[in-house]
Amino acid sequence: MRRKDSTEVLLAKLRDDLRAARGLSTERLAAQIQEIGFQCLRCGDCCTGEDNSVVVFPFEIRRILGATAMDWSDVVEPPQEGEWDSEGIFHTLEWRLKREDGSCKFYAKCNCKIYGSRPLLCSTYPFYLDSGALRCSECRGLGRKIRPGEAWKIAALLKRRCIIEIREAIALLERYEDFERGRPGKRGLCVVHDSEGEHRVITELHS
Ligand code: SF4
Repeated sequence: MRRKDSTEVLLAKLRDDLRAARGLSTERLAAQIQEIGFQCLRCGDCCTGEDNSVVVFPFEIRRILGATAMDWSDVVEPPQEGEWDSEGIFHTLEWRLKREDGSCKFYAKCNCKIYGSRPLLCSTYPFYLDSGALRCSECRGLGRKIRPGEAWKIAALLKRRCIIEIREAIALLERYEDFERGRPGKRGLCVVHDSEGEHRVITELHS
């Protein structure tokens, strides 16, 4: 299948997923969360360690910039995974929150320094949706009593996150410019593809 055709197939699938996500019942999700139970223990496990990698979308990055007056490059970095083009430039997808000393750089003393503007991935942790089904990541707070209003709030955020993730994937695919593959280069140049198109950044990460 040619790349253009496979992109169209993928876009059609994503549009179907988007319709399904819009039809998710917040009430049903809330009832499931209520049954599972959850209370954040502020242990910081999800903000620290090797597994901590927070995907963040451009509109979320701008919200953090507005709340902190920091620069884009102080808040996020490109992921390590990607491909090189024929000019030795590294290409990758989406952004990750920056990390420092093995933790998210916004984590300090059991607190999130950007709590009010933290990404959707953080505000819905440890829950996520997999083809509409509720799933949980590992978390010590699971199984604890949760108030109905709190369960409903997480359910509504989960549905919103699911819709946004699909919309972002559609926008990324629609703007994605393919490139000729090449060998690893040492230029320190990186192109991040996201829902806004291409961002060119200088980085030490892949050189
Ligand atoms: S943004 Fe806040 S909640 Fe999310 S990983 Fe960083 S410190 Fe934790």
